[in-house]
Amino acid sequence: MNPVQLLELLVSTPSVSGDEGNIATSLSGILSREGFRIQREGNSIWFTIGKRERPHLLLLSHLDTVPPCAGWNSDPFKAHIDHRKLIGLGANDAKGSVAAIILTAREIQDRHYEGSITFAFVADEERGGEGIRAIKPQLGHIDAAVVGEPTGLQVCTAQRGLLILRCTAHGKASHAAHAHLGENAIHKAARDISRLAAMEFEAYEDLGATRPEVTQITGGLARNQVPDRCEFFADLRTTPNLDHATVADEIGAMLESEVAIHSHRYEPISTNASETVVRAALEVVDASAGIGSVTTSDWAFLKGIPAVKVGPGDTNRSHRPNEYLLLSELEKGVAFYSRFIHTYFRMAAKEVAHV
Ligand SMILES: [Zn+2]
Repeated sequence: MNPVQLLELLVSTPSVSGDEGNIATSLSGILSREGFRIQREGNSIWFTIGKRERPHLLLLSHLDTVPPCAGWNSDPFKAHIDHRKLIGLGANDAKGSVAAIILTAREIQDRHYEGSITFAFVADEERGGEGIRAIKPQLGHIDAAVVGEPTGLQVCTAQRGLLILRCTAHGKASHAAHAHLGENAIHKAARDISRLAAMEFEAYEDLGATRPEVTQITGGLARNQVPDRCEFFADLRTTPNLDHATVADEIGAMLESEVAIHSHRYEPISTNASETVVRAALEVVDASAGIGSVTTSDWAFLKGIPAVKVGPGDTNRSHRPNEYLLLSELEKGVAFYSRFIHTYFRMAAKEVAHV
């Protein structure tokens, strides 16, 4: 199966989050026939090359996609090629990375490195990271990781997190004609929302500042009643210099509404430029520094492991109609991952020798 056929097969096997059984089974079959020893947990699969020696490198990407949105000009679940573009749901996010990583595994299958490499393709990345969280304890100690996501092969060394706050303004109900007897919870929420709209947290490198976005609001039971309750949500895409609990406390202290953490598991994350994984990736792409990424990924669940996010494709094409990957991007992806593995183990071996 050539690279294009592999990506076509992946894209033409529907795998919306929660429904990755078929893709996990067919990919396991293909990889087993090629001699890889596949392990599976739920609909996530992985295999290791090398004898569980350290350093142990992890290459990770995801099998699932978001559901198709409106606006497709063709069947999103059927890959087709037009002008050297492979079009279909997930072609860019992240089946292009999956295909490039698999092709890399094939290429290095019989090479020997001073260390071991685990290749993992997980389910449920788009919905909460259940896949990576379930398999991570089974992977053993990991010294470094590469997360395959469409970054245009730019090396991301920082990634924004996601903090969602649920804010509740409490008031006192009354007839709207006797408003002095009540306390208007929507007015209170409106003051708080203005405060949030003006708020800005300290900037972090090229990612810049973090600002709360109020994304949902509900309040009021009747058009002629002063409302006693109004609830709204604030979405904060946090940077690695911020701590979720501290941000929630600071916002809580500024608002009249009651503030509770609704979701905080996507913590912001970054990797120091001195880590081997960063230096190896930057050397391969010939760049002097990594960049920050505004989108979350399963990297958020690899806390404590030096990691970078890098893969073929363009994040702006993700979760949109007529998603595609250029065939040239697929080729460059394979070249990146194989050169990266080679460079990483060369650098790691030198470092061990110097200790
Ligand atoms: Zn993705």
